[in-house]
Amino acid sequence: MRFALVNDERSEAAPQLLGCCLGCSQPMIAKCGTQRVWHWAHRSNRNCDTWWEPETLWHRDWKNQFPSEWQEIIQRDEKGEKHVADVMTANGQVIEFQHSHLPAQERAAREAFYRNMIWIVDGMRLKNDRKRFLAGGSLFSAPFAKGLFLTRSPESCLPAVWLNCTKPVLFDFEGFAAPDGLPPEIQGKLWCLLPGRIDGQAVLAAVSRSWFIDAARMREQIIPMHAITWVVRRGLTARRWNYTRPPHSGPSRGRRRAKY
Ligand SMILES: [Zn+2]
Repeated sequence: MRFALVNDERSEAAPQLLGCCLGCSQPMIAKCGTQRVWHWAHRSNRNCDTWWEPETLWHRDWKNQFPSEWQEIIQRDEKGEKHVADVMTANGQVIEFQHSHLPAQERAAREAFYRNMIWIVDGMRLKNDRKRFLAGGSLFSAPFAKGLFLTRSPESCLPAVWLNCTKPVLFDFEGFAAPDGLPPEIQGKLWCLLPGRIDGQAVLAAVSRSWFIDAARMREQIIPMHAITWVVRRGLTARRWNYTRPPHSGPSRGRRRAKY
C-alpha cells in the first residue's frame, strides 16, 4: 500500500518507518528497496484485503494524478467485508487500476462490491494485447461520431477477459512515458469500452488522459455513459432512417416527418 498510519497521519513509506494498516490496524513495515516502488507491507505477511495486488510504477503514476486523500479508501459492505479502493473521487466513484490478470469471478465480485466504479487496465503488460490493439487500427480510421467507435468484434482489438464487464473499462496502452510507436491519431488516449452492446455492437470511446483526469474532478460519473448511449442510438436510428427512406424524398421532408 502507499499509505499507512504513522502517529495518526496517513504517511508514505520511508526507510525505517513503522506504521499501522489503515484497514486492519495491524503493524506495517516500510519496504524501501530498489526493485519495487516504495510501499507498506503487513508485518504478518498477510494482506487484510485479499484483492490487493502489488503496486507497480504504473499504479503509482496513475494514483499520483489524483489528490492523496482520494487514494486507498477503505470500503466496507453491509456484512463488514472490507476492501481498499485504489482511488475514490469526491463524487464517490471508484477507479480501480488493474495491472495483473484478474479471474472473471473476482472481477465480477469487485464490480458488485464497489457498484459505482470504472476500471483502468494496464494494456502494456502483455505485448500481444498492444499488438492486437494496433492491428485493429482500421476501426479507428472510421469513427461513428467524434471519439466514438463501434465494432461487432471487439475481441479483434481488445483483450478477451475484459470484454463483458458491467462497468466501463479504460485501456491504457501508453502509460506515462513518452509515446512510442503509436500512430499519432491514437496517441495520448485511453480507450473506454462501454458495458453491454448496442444493436450487437460494442461501443468504444476515445478520451484523452487529461480529459479523464479533469472529468474525475468535475463530473459525478467520469464516463457519461447515458449521453454516449443516446448519441449512438440516435445515430443508428438516423442511419436506418436514411437507408429505408424512399429515394425521391428529400432531406427536408425527412426532417418534417421526424418532427411529428
Ligand atoms: Zn491491513
